[in-house]
Amino acid sequence: MSGPVRTCVGCRTRAPAAELLRVVARDGIAVPDDARREPGRGAHLHRSVECLDQAERRRALPRALRVEGPLDLTRVRALLSPSSGHAEHAERETR
Ligand SMILES: [Zn+2]
Repeated sequence: MSGPVRTCVGCRTRAPAAELLRVVARDGIAVPDDARREPGRGAHLHRSVECLDQAERRRALPRALRVEGPLDLTRVRALLSPSSGHAEHAERETR
């Protein structure tokens, strides 16, 4: 079966849309759109923190979603974080 293919905004690899998480922007907040039902512009991302980190470093999400100014990625990060549950105030890791 071959469905639609999208490019991950993190690693820039093309993958079936079903394997990627769709993200939409609502009032400056990046909202995971797991059901892929939200209207409007969406960005696609692998379900991995690594890809989110890459996207964040390159500001790929605000650019893909045409958001001016900062975009709050907390909700997306909480969803992708392996230790979800207490990730509401996820600390930024600096390496
Ligand atoms: Zn990726």
